[in-house]
Amino acid sequence: MEPYDVIMFYCPQCSQRNEHQLFHPEGKQEHYHATNIPVHVAVNITSIDLSCEGCETPLNICLEDIPARQYNLLVRLDCSNMGSGMDSWYDDHGRGYD
Ligand SMILES: [Zn+2]
Repeated sequence: MEPYDVIMFYCPQCSQRNEHQLFHPEGKQEHYHATNIPVHVAVNITSIDLSCEGCETPLNICLEDIPARQYNLLVRLDCSNMGSGMDSWYDDHGRGYD
């Protein structure tokens, strides 16, 4: 069976709860609310036409048009092997920059 997650949303017409099976490679049959969709799922959502399970009103679901969140790689020193004391954060002795 193809992997999918389930997006739950409410019909704006009759408030019936609908569930849409979103097929995508990382699907784990998780259930998500329309307002709490993790990024790895959201990126797979395209504009989808469907009908309400309650009133059969044609609906379209897609991602809200909000600015894409930016993901920056954060690089920090791994201080887990250092002794305590914040000074060592800023004084990285002998770590390969010659
Ligand atoms: Zn409806």
